[in-house]
Amino acid sequence: MAIEIMAVGGYSEVGRNMTAIKVDDEVIICDMGVHLENYISLTEDEDLVNIHPDELIAHNACPNIELLGEWKEKVKAIIPTHAHLDHIGAIPFLARSFECPIICTPFTAALLNSLITDAKIPFKNKIKVLNVNSSIKISNSLTMEFVSITHSTPQTVVAVLHTPYGKIVYANDFKLDNYPVLGTKPNLARLEEIGNEGDVVCLVMDSLYAHEARKMPSESVARAMLKDVLLGTYCEGKAVICTTFSSHIARLKSMVDYGKRMGRKVIFLGRSLHKYIAAAESVGLVKFSEQAEIVKYSSKVKSRLNKMMREGIDKYLIICTGHQGEPQAGLYKMAHGMFDFKRGDHVVFSSSVIPSPTNQRNRHVIEEKLTSLGVRIFKDIHVSGHAAREDHRDMIEMLKPKHIVPSHSEPDRMAALADLAYDLGYHERFIHLLKNGSILKFNGA
Ligand SMILES: [Zn+2]
Repeated sequence: MAIEIMAVGGYSEVGRNMTAIKVDDEVIICDMGVHLENYISLTEDEDLVNIHPDELIAHNACPNIELLGEWKEKVKAIIPTHAHLDHIGAIPFLARSFECPIICTPFTAALLNSLITDAKIPFKNKIKVLNVNSSIKISNSLTMEFVSITHSTPQTVVAVLHTPYGKIVYANDFKLDNYPVLGTKPNLARLEEIGNEGDVVCLVMDSLYAHEARKMPSESVARAMLKDVLLGTYCEGKAVICTTFSSHIARLKSMVDYGKRMGRKVIFLGRSLHKYIAAAESVGLVKFSEQAEIVKYSSKVKSRLNKMMREGIDKYLIICTGHQGEPQAGLYKMAHGMFDFKRGDHVVFSSSVIPSPTNQRNRHVIEEKLTSLGVRIFKDIHVSGHAAREDHRDMIEMLKPKHIVPSHSEPDRMAALADLAYDLGYHERFIHLLKNGSILKFNGA
């Protein structure tokens, strides 16, 4: 047995996820993300711009690839599992340090291409597309299989690395949603089959909500919450403004659908929404351009808002960025002069507050401002895209891994997943709480 796993990023914080798996003399990298808050503190915006990787690493905005040492020369593929920036955002900066392709699903590839183009960063790695529920041979001894899973952005996969010594399963991020609003269901049959094959050496698993003893509700529940707040409140003559994650295409779809049911024209404002929608349309996931208007350039937003106000604001459902209260985003700018909010206008936060001091402060500021303007606030119209404890239990019971590595969080959440593994009868020598820089070796498995 010659498998080693190195925790490179995302094992001591939420963000800049990266894991390296070494099998004999070959290395596969799963995810290469940014730490968004640290990145924004450096650039004042989440757009990727051409910054030297050393500076990003020094600010803990990117994974520290120097930890790889001599593994660096052995990397055969970089596998981003989905399109969130904390999983793909460092690829434009760091991938050129490796002589290998990027392998990802079509939506992730489309978004990655758009990030690279926007950032104007020279990029040499080949981007290979692999569909969900498909496999690709990486070398004579390694094959990568993408098993369809659900999350809060389309075409997320569980990456299953087939090695001569068994399988390494990387489930980071995921939830088990049998009633998704968009895209394919989790391929539970294949996960069970993999478990029954009995050779899963290790499961690396998203532990963000391992401390919550419940099953994470389906995205269809968030859709029902949106329906309730959009179709079930009195908003005649009032502005209705929704904000959510630009990458959450399923949530945007629900907004488009209910905007039409309200008899309002749906209008997306801002570059970030345009970027993710364009990626989703380019791979045939949605056709929002036919159903809604998308104002791409921020310089055009103010004049478009003025036109809406002249025509009658209750003819529109506005979808904008800024659900965390970010000062550079659409909602903040609207609340600070770009839009003439009237008493009784509606703002729907289809998100939760990402718990960091900056976000909590920003959200407090925007909510205070909106309240002072007499705006009705509907918040937490949301369910998370991350598994909770009962989903983790299902995943472990389906896959029957020999070893478990909690990931994607701070130590307390990872410890909560370890507790679950103890409950399921795992001995502590098969549960591994890693930190950035730790290397786990499997001896004889
Ligand atoms: Zn994610």
